[in-house]
Amino acid sequence: MKAVGSVLSLLHSGVAVVVMVRTALALISSDRLALLAMRDQSPPALRVAKSLIQGKGLFTGEPVRARRKLGEFTGERISTREAAKRARGAKRIVIVDVTETEAIDGSVRGGPFQYINHSCTANVFIRIAYGRIEFYARRDIKAGEELTCDYGLSYHEGELACRCGSTECKKFI
Ligand SMILES: [Zn+2]
Repeated sequence: MKAVGSVLSLLHSGVAVVVMVRTALALISSDRLALLAMRDQSPPALRVAKSLIQGKGLFTGEPVRARRKLGEFTGERISTREAAKRARGAKRIVIVDVTETEAIDGSVRGGPFQYINHSCTANVFIRIAYGRIEFYARRDIKAGEELTCDYGLSYHEGELACRCGSTECKKFI
């Protein structure tokens, strides 16, 4: 009966009721905004094809506006300790650290982003937050362009020669 009492006291106080209604409206409009944002942020059509840099690469099948979300890095979630073990002696490394202790190995049940190549002048940036590895357009990207990101500090530890071909190439990954 305590709950009923508190509802009644809210109804008796005009201010409280107004606040409650406004909160409900705010919730509805923010939900609608979230839906609109999701529609706008639907990932563009991507395809994996022979790269201009090396091996396979990731390409966009449609024009992409700057800051649009392109997708997420998926694969097996492992510890960074296991990641370091797997990276040792591996020919192809597709592991991204999520935190200091957690990483994702894109070569196991991974999606198309395991094929994104490194470039010293990348057109995509990585955002790592809340346990997710997300990719966003750094600039407007034309349909058919190869997507590239800056690997930053990599498991290659600066020993892999970079072939991105950019005039600002740092030569090693
Ligand atoms: Zn380079």
